Amino acid sequence: MVKMVPRRGWLRLSFLGLLAACALVYVYYYSSGTPNPQLLKDKPQEPARGAGSERRAERQSEFVDDGQGQVIPSHQCHAITAPKTDVNTVDQFPKFEFQPAWMRGKEFWDTNFEKRYLKRRAKWKKLPLKVFLMPHSHNDPGWLKTYEEYYFHQTSKILQNMIEYLRVHSNMTFIWSEISFLSLWYERAHPTLRQQLKELVSSGRLEIATGGWVMTDEANVHLYAMLDQLIEGHQWLSNILGVHPVSGWSVDPFGHGAAVPYLLQESGIKATVVQRIHYAWKQWLAEQQLGDFQWRQVWDSTGENDILCHNRPYDIYSIKHSCGPHPQICLGYDFRKVPGEYTEYTIKSVPIDDHNVKKKAELLLEQYGRTGSLYPHNVVLVPIGDDFRYDHASEWDQQYTSYHRLLTHINSDPKYHANIQFGTLKDYFAEVQNRMRDYPSLQGDFFVYSDIFSEGRPAYWSGYFTTRPYWKVLDRQLEASLRSAEILYTWAYAWAVQEGQARVVQLLEKDYEKLVRARRNLALFQHHDAITGTSKAYVMHDYAIKLHEGLHDTIALAGEAAEALLLTPAAMASLDSRAAPLHHLHPDFERSTYERLPRKLPLTVPRGQPRLIVMFNSLGQRRYEVVKVLVSSLDMRVTDEHGHEVPIQINPVWNDTGNGMAILSTQFELLFVADLPALSVITYSVHHTSRPTTELRASVYSNNYAPAPDQNYSPPFETRDVLPGDIQLESDHLKLLFDGTTGMLRSITDKVNGRVTQTAVRYAAYPSAQFKSGAYLFKPDPNAREPEEDVLTGAKPRLFIQSGPVASELSVMFGSVLMHTTRILHVTHQPLASAVYMENVFNLGGRYNSTETPGFPPHFRETEMFMRIMTDIDNGAEPTFYTDQSGLNMQKRVRVQRIGIQGNYFPITSAAMIEDSGPGRRLTLLTDHAAGAAAWQQGWLEVMVERRTFYDDARGMGEGVTDQKRTVGRYWLLVEDTRGQEPVARLSLAAHHLANSLNYPITQLINEGLDSHQLNSGVHLITRPLPCTLHLMTLRTLPEPQYPSLLPSRTTLMILQNQSPSCTTSASVSTCNGLGDSPFPGTELALQVSSMQQTSLTATSIKGPLASLPEMIVPHHRLRAITLTFPQPPPPPPPAE
Ligand SMILES: [Zn+2]
Repeated sequence: MVKMVPRRGWLRLSFLGLLAACALVYVYYYSSGTPNPQLLKDKPQEPARGAGSERRAERQSEFVDDGQGQVIPSHQCHAITAPKTDVNTVDQFPKFEFQPAWMRGKEFWDTNFEKRYLKRRAKWKKLPLKVFLMPHSHNDPGWLKTYEEYYFHQTSKILQNMIEYLRVHSNMTFIWSEISFLSLWYERAHPTLRQQLKELVSSGRLEIATGGWVMTDEANVHLYAMLDQLIEGHQWLSNILGVHPVSGWSVDPFGHGAAVPYLLQESGIKATVVQRIHYAWKQWLAEQQLGDFQWRQVWDSTGENDILCHNRPYDIYSIKHSCGPHPQICLGYDFRKVPGEYTEYTIKSVPIDDHNVKKKAELLLEQYGRTGSLYPHNVVLVPIGDDFRYDHASEWDQQYTSYHRLLTHINSDPKYHANIQFGTLKDYFAEVQNRMRDYPSLQGDFFVYSDIFSEGRPAYWSGYFTTRPYWKVLDRQLEASLRSAEILYTWAYAWAVQEGQARVVQLLEKDYEKLVRARRNLALFQHHDAITGTSKAYVMHDYAIKLHEGLHDTIALAGEAAEALLLTPAAMASLDSRAAPLHHLHPDFERSTYERLPRKLPLTVPRGQPRLIVMFNSLGQRRYEVVKVLVSSLDMRVTDEHGHEVPIQINPVWNDTGNGMAILSTQFELLFVADLPALSVITYSVHHTSRPTTELRASVYSNNYAPAPDQNYSPPFETRDVLPGDIQLESDHLKLLFDGTTGMLRSITDKVNGRVTQTAVRYAAYPSAQFKSGAYLFKPDPNAREPEEDVLTGAKPRLFIQSGPVASELSVMFGSVLMHTTRILHVTHQPLASAVYMENVFNLGGRYNSTETPGFPPHFRETEMFMRIMTDIDNGAEPTFYTDQSGLNMQKRVRVQRIGIQGNYFPITSAAMIEDSGPGRRLTLLTDHAAGAAAWQQGWLEVMVERRTFYDDARGMGEGVTDQKRTVGRYWLLVEDTRGQEPVARLSLAAHHLANSLNYPITQLINEGLDSHQLNSGVHLITRPLPCTLHLMTLRTLPEPQYPSLLPSRTTLMILQNQSPSCTTSASVSTCNGLGDSPFPGTELALQVSSMQQTSLTATSIKGPLASLPEMIVPHHRLRAITLTFPQPPPPPPPAE
């Protein structure tokens, strides 16, 4: 329902209560009034018809049917306590001195550090200095060059040299991290070299660190992709080299989150290293001798998931910053000399010989000793390398020979009380563990990163949280598409093997290669210069082509698998004779290039012949989803999988004529809410109808109609003008008030309890400082006329409202810069009934001309556009908010005003929330892609939407960011009651549910060419839905060990995540049951399983057998993995005599 409130200049949110009292003229947009709730009531699921074969799961008996949903009963909700740790980053960070005296000199080392070092040095007799020299090479799979260019120009040589020179220098060591490169090399390597690689690894001199496909970014990467790239790397290592990494190495990501250490810990890694953290943290951890600590999860009260973490004490991992506190001295110890290269270290360093060894060794020993004094144990790790090092054979000899002379000199003289050797991470941690048992504990994370060493001024790396949102969205589209394809593939493949469907087995085996390629394309993009948007434009283009290829292939795979599962036995029997089997289910959009948004294609529905829409729900719970289909007729009806008619709405499709918006008379948008059982593929049918559909058509209001083409024109929808005044959208649950001029939301009223929350939405931009804001960095221009620029001011807002039985929505367009839509649904089930959907279509990259967008500048420059929601929520005088930690948990953030807005932007991948300090309200914003978010003033929550910076920010990339594209960002906004804060902040159950729906949209396919009787109406993978809390992270067919990129095995990896919900919110979800840590008794997959094993997260070590799925226990916040092995098919009968 929509109302308009006549314009009153004085009318403000605070006077909302007067609205009802005033004698206002209401205009009802939706002529038939409130939609009939009966039509939309949840109904019990019925058995699928025609589901005769064994592969079709038995009935899913779990459903909740109270329509309104349930408040979580307190006895069911799992209260958790916060851990006690020596350091909590949230409490410690605000205490720092952010403008330290040493800032200009760029080195924190002062007389206090020096005194402590001298005291320590006097004790070396008892606590000798132990140093591990660790040669390494940091290889970015894409940055200034593409992944393949780096490989062929540099990395292949580095790996080749590595094999050769580690064999020449028999005590030299090396570490390697990026499996994307190592696997590429291995595929092309001679068998002799492959064998030599294996020998080096098993000797321990070559350590594989982390073993991820890439060194993942830690801010923008969502949990699924973060884990998936680790699985891809670990599986390759396990299958090909037989190695399981035990040390982590994360040294270039721009700030460190808590999700990476958690995933490493659950994947068999014992200790890890971080590098890029805020300069104030570097100084403080050094002062406190806290550089080796137990990193504890904020939700882990017992510390069972602790991982030992080593912080590199200085700025970065190059030799200049790794030997000790004085970079100018360390430069003298980088012995690389390549003809033609002239750098700061080639000037400073000379090779070590008999004449200079004593002096140089003693100078270096002091640097090592100073580093040792920053730790209680006096063990020092010294990485010797930099980006793409050891590409020239000569460097191996240069570095080795000089260092070997240095260490020989020191080791041979007992007066030094020091021992230096080549070693790896494993050696370093073993020695530390040997000398030290108890470590201080730390909870929280290391965002936001700021360096100081570059300019001697703080530079906050919070720009990349948002840089290139188009790519960040594309990444998540592939993530969702890949996950759906993985589950469908596993299901269809196991079923086909089991049923002896040889043709289907053959097809799927052939396509496994595509699945692997899509995994690797997604994995590659999790690299810390890829999803971050910090590669050169042409490299970003290359990444996007790979993501687009993955999208194409995974959608095709999902169609194939869904078709195999849905085909009736009779249709399946005729499969062999068909020319193109399993190619009948297609997406209802086309996207020929990644650069353009998907374009929906209209569905033609012949009279008397319904069109089938096939939908896959990849979640372990039942869900309702709004489904949109483009149709070419107004006379439509829709039936569900049981043949029952479902409520629909028909919306207009608009065409921008340049002279106002026209309603097309040949295309329409059909809207309905689909009810999708857990892990099922079901079909809905779109029929032509002769029944009048007038009451199903949306009522339309706008202030920007194009002139009628002729006098006789009559639009197919009831159209009215937007009247002056504020606008109200209303459902049974919600009342939304909008500013009638700007079309922006002002308040949300919960009609059930009468609660009004101010939610004023504002778009503006921070004018950013040239050369200080760029791909990595964010810094508002301190000299700007206004701190916030109204980027939308040039264009007259064009408003569109459409309201019908399913949804009411208001869209506002500001030229081609922004279209902002707010939608509510006329449904009874929760949380959809209480949540507000928002969508932004934005483009700061278009070239605007004066006719298209009067008033806009020709280009946006140095513009950082944000969407802010200003509420009356009291989240503290120092505003507190919560951001998701890569989707694993929520992390508390408290404003530190003195470091500016740039230091108070935090990364989100799926959620941010603010809440009243005591009992009251909570506002949660859920997003479908990574972005920066902030709570800069009390009651505010904002997300950065898009950034356009013309200049490079001097962090090596060498370009501005000007390749903006038309992008869509999707959000859910949820206001809930809360009974107060919990010790560990968690999303509500409703918020988890909405986040899953944004992250993992349904797969929607159209049948092209099959008769409807050839497809079953639905199939189900699981006999009972999972409890509300258990999320099926993945169901991923593992490769045949000998052919990890070619052939599927009969074993699949299933990972469940416990999405532990808040106990103090009133949230409810009406489509799931239970908050348990295990699947319900009797839960089974609709497939025969011959064995189940509990494993580590990346399935490289087995923890024991499992008799049934309900035996699986997934404690709160954790992930648990099992492998399921499907039986071999029965052998074919012997041929007749
Ligand atoms: Zn890097």
